[in-house]
Amino acid sequence: MFCERHYTAPVKGDGQFFSLGLSVPCHTKGLFPGHGRGRAFFLETIPETEQYYLTNMIFSPLLKKGVLLLALCGVLGGGVLSAQEAGGAPITEEGLKALDSNVFANEYMLALKPNVTRDRIARIKDPFVRGLATRMAEKKFDRKARALTAEPYEPVKDLAERLRTSQYSKFENPTGIFFEEGEDVLLVMGDPKGEKLNLVIHNFGRDGGHSSYPLKEGVNIIRAKNKGLGYIEYFTPNYKKAPKVHLSILSGKVNGVFVGGVSKNSDWKKMLENSPTEVVDIVGSRVHLVYPVEELKQFCPDKGEELIALYDRIIGMEQQIMGLYKYRMLPKNRMFGRVIWNGFMHADGTGAAFHNGTMKEVGNPDRIPGSAWGIAHEFGHVNQVRPAMKWVSTGEVTNNIYSAYVNYMLNPSSMRLEHERINGGDGNMIGGRFNAYLNNGILKGENWLVQSGPDKRSGGDNRPMVHDHFVKLAPLWQLELYFKVAGKGNPDFYPDIFYKAIKMDTRGKKDGELQLAFMKNACDAARQDLTDFFRKTGMLKPIDQELDDYTCARMTITEADCKNLIAYARKYKKPESPVIYYISVNSAEAYKNRLPVRGVYNQGVTEQGNRRIVSHDVWKNAVVFETYKDREMVRITMVGTDSRDNSSTTVPYPEGSTRIEAVSWDGRRTLVYGKRPAK
Ligand SMILES: [Zn+2]
Repeated sequence: MFCERHYTAPVKGDGQFFSLGLSVPCHTKGLFPGHGRGRAFFLETIPETEQYYLTNMIFSPLLKKGVLLLALCGVLGGGVLSAQEAGGAPITEEGLKALDSNVFANEYMLALKPNVTRDRIARIKDPFVRGLATRMAEKKFDRKARALTAEPYEPVKDLAERLRTSQYSKFENPTGIFFEEGEDVLLVMGDPKGEKLNLVIHNFGRDGGHSSYPLKEGVNIIRAKNKGLGYIEYFTPNYKKAPKVHLSILSGKVNGVFVGGVSKNSDWKKMLENSPTEVVDIVGSRVHLVYPVEELKQFCPDKGEELIALYDRIIGMEQQIMGLYKYRMLPKNRMFGRVIWNGFMHADGTGAAFHNGTMKEVGNPDRIPGSAWGIAHEFGHVNQVRPAMKWVSTGEVTNNIYSAYVNYMLNPSSMRLEHERINGGDGNMIGGRFNAYLNNGILKGENWLVQSGPDKRSGGDNRPMVHDHFVKLAPLWQLELYFKVAGKGNPDFYPDIFYKAIKMDTRGKKDGELQLAFMKNACDAARQDLTDFFRKTGMLKPIDQELDDYTCARMTITEADCKNLIAYARKYKKPESPVIYYISVNSAEAYKNRLPVRGVYNQGVTEQGNRRIVSHDVWKNAVVFETYKDREMVRITMVGTDSRDNSSTTVPYPEGSTRIEAVSWDGRRTLVYGKRPAK
């Protein structure tokens, strides 16, 4: 993170660069003539503690070159500074020679020397420098916001290759300083020890704009080609050893950076109130957001701490599932999310993007637990491990392994898969989506990825059918429920699979092979033979079909492939439950605690046309209800279907049905209603 101070305990005074004091040699002698003498602080505005830190943080090599560096400055003079803090005067080479004029306490120009009087300031000829010194004397200079420490980060592309994801943030090291187009930027940088740093000015506002400027040690004067916020681009393959680089930005307006775990909600309010631009930088430990000021004022006026904490938590859950914690692969780099002004939500090479109109959901910490799906989904796209966890037709599916888990952790009583009210084939009902999976996948035996569901639709001319992404997610979510939530084996089931996926040699592997590899990895991670589950859910079935995705492709799995995997998995024991394919969030408890079905035949059942309402006051611990016509099963119904609180199940009972059976977690059937056929 940019501002080191944000990650350390609060220090006295402003304490800029303070936390680096120990690692920075204190070469103070000879930097400024007269330094260390005459500590007669006439400027009562600067506390002694600050003076101490300021005089102890100086780099000698920089200043020795100070005058020379000034002479080498390229683009000089003529620019117009923003009026608010820069004093409205252009920055000129001449003027900056005041660096050598005994006015500033150090080469970063962040404070006045103790013996500088108001008279002395008045005599400074250059308007920019005089303005700077005056504001310091008048205590109108936000030194804390302008003293910065840039930290090295792993190059974004290297990280993406290492984790086999899309790209994390390109906007690390936010300065929190806003520049106008055409403004002169004055930036003083310490010794980068051979590393290359750039100032990036990016406008996340409606007009857009992006420019980048290489930085050099010492004074940099840069003409901003566009307006926007500043970021110090410091990505290096040497990120583990490269030095932190100090710098100061003496022009531009302070927008500020809100840092999770450090900044307070009082800072948040001030930041929103005083922002000179449309967006603010919000930085957590796992994610960096650039969100719009106006909407935050409206939907998150006083909960900045809660907002970034929730985002950090969501990203943390994704990275946990990816195995990055378990396998110690967690990067220092953050993910990146920003506001967009057109569209809705998406993910791209920059990160996750959320339209300003969605901020009432994604920018409101009170509502995020109920609407975290979209957030987890878009960041989840970035975190999709490719190609091993993103084969054809799973482009909108495997990222939802994260979303479903986040949904469960933040709002388990309102699950997208299990609790949405939608027509899954028997009319609008809570749980319709899950029942579409149970009936088309498990009962009818359609192949996974092409099972029918509410969202199934034509893909358009010459394109394959688009199938229901949520129906596709169901069996992947069931595995998470079974292993992690119900605790039926390796709780690190997905972390282990993702780790294998990250490390897998996928060169030349086709989509069918990737799906087979996933199932093999799942058996290995579980150390259980999951092939019955995979066969039943339609994953381990021969298929040779063109499938829809952003890029369509042919999915081919042969009979021989299936047999090979079944033979391979035979070395593992069968899972404790033979009906993992029936687990849902409504029944996870029954699996976890091995609860037997309880109920009294023909009681607690209300007839309602072609439906039967089964009361859970009478019927307990069923995982699904099966409806039969004699020997033929005609419906599978998730427990809790069409009930807000899982107090009953609405079971479809089509014309000619003869009975309902309750199924327990271990696959046992209990007759609920109707008659079993004679044997
Ligand atoms: Zn998506």
